[in-house]
Amino acid sequence: MRYISTRGGAAPRDFEGVLLAGLAEDGGLFMPETWPQFTPAEWRAMRALPYADLAARIIARFTGDAVTEAELRTMCHDAYGRFAHAAVVPLVQLDHRAFSLELFHGPTLAFKDLALQLLGRLFDHVLARSGQRITIVGATSGDTGSAAIEACRDRAAVDIIILHPEGRTSEVQRRQMTTVLSPNVANIAMQGSFDDCQDAVKAMFNDAPFRHEMKLAAVNSINWARIAAQIPYYAAAALALGAPDRPVAVSVPSGNFGNVLAAYGAMRMGLPIERFIVGANRNDILARWLDANDMTMRAVEPSLSPSMDIQVSSNFERLLFELLGRDAVATAEQMQRFRTEGRMPIPDAAWRAATTRFRGFRLDDAGTIAEMRRVRAEAGYIADPHTAIGIAGARAHAPEDAGMPVIIAATAHPAKFPDAVREALGEAPALPPHLADLYERPERFTVLPNDVAQVQGLVRAHARRNAA
Ligand SMILES: *Cc1c(COP(=O)(O)O)cnc(C)c1O
Repeated sequence: MRYISTRGGAAPRDFEGVLLAGLAEDGGLFMPETWPQFTPAEWRAMRALPYADLAARIIARFTGDAVTEAELRTMCHDAYGRFAHAAVVPLVQLDHRAFSLELFHGPTLAFKDLALQLLGRLFDHVLARSGQRITIVGATSGDTGSAAIEACRDRAAVDIIILHPEGRTSEVQRRQMTTVLSPNVANIAMQGSFDDCQDAVKAMFNDAPFRHEMKLAAVNSINWARIAAQIPYYAAAALALGAPDRPVAVSVPSGNFGNVLAAYGAMRMGLPIERFIVGANRNDILARWLDANDMTMRAVEPSLSPSMDIQVSSNFERLLFELLGRDAVATAEQMQRFRTEGRMPIPDAAWRAATTRFRGFRLDDAGTIAEMRRVRAEAGYIADPHTAIGIAGARAHAPEDAGMPVIIAATAHPAKFPDAVREALGEAPALPPHLADLYERPERFTVLPNDVAQVQGLVRAHARRNAA
């Protein structure tokens, strides 16, 4: 399996290359040269597999010779064996057609654990073979950082530095990152927005000498391995609900567009996913685009669903590449204009092609609270604010065929957002036992201004200290 850049200016790589590189040298994102496929008979046979085996079977199609299915199976059992539910990703029925796909039973209570617990093991696997050391830098609006830190803490060949926007994550999210005192972990609270953090990370990757000196690697969803590791849960849910013999829809509360892109990948691998509902809070650039082909950047505003407070959805570039018929020159041009002009005039034909399957949905904070109350009253279900947007989106945009089930990506455990849950339901859910003392643990982080040079200085000092 080879990977190509969405901007066409980087040499193709194998899986190990894209795992370690993250972003391509031309600023583009890696995509598989062709989508691997399973036949309907092969999908049906997978219905019998436990989740870890299913995941290994699917991900092996992306790893090629770099990691075998047997090696992946060992890693997946190790990673997903730590989850708090035997099904790993259980489906909970909410009404006659809506199903909550609970992706939050991992160590940090959000769906990021599904990909990152495996990614940490994949890094170990390939680095042990080559004797290298890497430095992971990442930006987080909350959940990626804690999941990445949890996946990489105390790993011998990995240093990790995570940037979060100061004061813009929930306290649980911050503490899940800053209370990990392992020597290979550093946290930066940046005085800016999530997009500022993400820009600083991109700038470090685009600084080739720095990137090579530090052996930078990415854990943001720009890393293809993360997308590959998210495809299996959509497959598991679709198979459980009758695919490939019954079409399904998905509703995904979205930020960087990685999670919904994984669902799209499941479709490209042969599963009948007929509709993709892309949920947003008031930061609704994707919903505006899907409604009216208006892709215009606006300032990021804080909301009750902070993991979706994003205006530049990095993985959108991958869908754009597909919609433009994999024309890398056209993709690069569009991305360049978006960067300089703040808006992207996507050709009408590409937009229309997207709207055959994709729908945008937006819900403000008041609507989110109302939806959390409704779901609790009608299904006895406590949804976190992100998941609530997914549930509301499923009601608004489910396909007319009432027999088609809708899989809602339940992206976070409600205990991760206690303030919003308290506001909606009058009481906050308890943290699971392994996090019960989170509020008593000491924290460690460094506050820095929105200044790439200062961030680079801290990264260099951290990596040097641990390599010594
Ligand atoms: C990361 C995250 C999202 C957004 O997912 P993307 O893959 O970035 O679109 C939504 N909800 C929660 C709880 C998250 O942690």
